[in-house]
Amino acid sequence: MRVLSNIQPEKVFYYFEEICNIPHGSGNLLQISNYLVDFAKEHNLKYRKDKKQNVVIFKDGTKGYENSEAVILQGHMDMVCEKAPGCTKDMQKEGLDLCTENGTIFAKGTTLGGDDGIAVAYILAILSSNDIEHPPIEAIFTTDEETGMFGATFLDTSDLKAKTLLNIDSEVEGVFTVGCAGGVEAKCTLPIKREDYNGTPLKITVSGLLGGHSGVEIDKGRANANMVLSRILNKISLEQDIRISELFGGLKVNAIPNNSTAVILCKNAEKINTICEELDRALSSEYDKTDNGITISVLPCEYEKPFDEKSTQAVISLLSALPNGIIDMSFDIDGLVETSLNLGIMSTDENTFVTKYNIRSNVESKKNMLVQRISAIMKYFDGKFETYGDYPSWEFSENSKLLNIMSDVYSEQYGNAPKIETIHAGLECGIFAGKIKGLDCVSIGPDITDIHTYNEKLHIKSVGRTWELILETLKRLK
Ligand SMILES: [Zn+2]
Repeated sequence: MRVLSNIQPEKVFYYFEEICNIPHGSGNLLQISNYLVDFAKEHNLKYRKDKKQNVVIFKDGTKGYENSEAVILQGHMDMVCEKAPGCTKDMQKEGLDLCTENGTIFAKGTTLGGDDGIAVAYILAILSSNDIEHPPIEAIFTTDEETGMFGATFLDTSDLKAKTLLNIDSEVEGVFTVGCAGGVEAKCTLPIKREDYNGTPLKITVSGLLGGHSGVEIDKGRANANMVLSRILNKISLEQDIRISELFGGLKVNAIPNNSTAVILCKNAEKINTICEELDRALSSEYDKTDNGITISVLPCEYEKPFDEKSTQAVISLLSALPNGIIDMSFDIDGLVETSLNLGIMSTDENTFVTKYNIRSNVESKKNMLVQRISAIMKYFDGKFETYGDYPSWEFSENSKLLNIMSDVYSEQYGNAPKIETIHAGLECGIFAGKIKGLDCVSIGPDITDIHTYNEKLHIKSVGRTWELILETLKRLK
């Protein structure tokens, strides 16, 4: 039995429910990708599917729009799979259990995947219609957006004619996103030497931090556990001879690390306890408003043969020299972080100390500047510097035809102007802007709350209003 059959817009919710019945977490997309291919065949639409399971479906312009410029409608087919504690659903194999309540749709015990299933549903509703007016459509359904935008990065766009792209992957109605940050990951490797040392082993742990997304939450003033630990080691090393044995912090480059640990050998454990207590008090006061759970603990522990004196000092100095956090705010858009970086991961092994960064900027040249700066620091320390996963920024263009049309439609529909935003994080639009020269692009979407959590809710009325906005925009793209 269908749960959403009486909800408007009917076609959109028909396809949304179809999608929800197919497991489609990131990395598990063969089935949904095949569903899209079958859809295209069934509707006699030209399509192609690539090795990464991306699907592109082509539809001609309707009567009067035969010669209009094509438009890309785009969303990603993968969702984040999260479950409530105790939920027994196998999200690899089973569809979702949809429910409706207070004007919203959610999935019992799991994420709903309104991000970005609603985009797929909107686009299928348009592709299957014969009463909606629109220019030629190139519909792009990408894969594995949530795990690194791998589908969009792989997609070949050479056969696409459109220079206009409507991305439906935003989650606040009334906000039009018109720019995003580019990013790159950087790995800094410092060779180390180990040597026996006579001292007391101690494990220093920084914990209780909030962490967060390294792009959109970098402006929240939260502490980075790796940077806090580096500050502790620096302070200690100024007062007594120590050796580092191990350093570990953070799990993902794009998350502000909330936990970090050092194993050291020292001459005076008592004094280290005192320094850490003092720093604990100072940090609690510094982060009182933004991250008040910071705790430093010092405990006895096991240890590996430590770094020699030179390597210990090099690691401490390197960590103090490397930048972290917000580098520049935007002068174009109020309150927007323009350039930042996050020391997401640090680790040690037998011969090396490694730090990994996520570097972002809404201005391409400033991202490159920061890459060069870290590279220069690593050169000074005789370390190795590598970058990978570079993706371009999508820079805001004031002459966007699509934005002008959509702003007009929105104002007529809502009685007020939309909010125009750019964000300090990567979006697939950035990748497309990098691939298609002169691409005019706007990202919108209906209200979805608590995305990426099992409390995710899709707001039904908002889906309807956004549908009207999309249809009227297509109509005006003559
Ligand atoms: Zn999304």
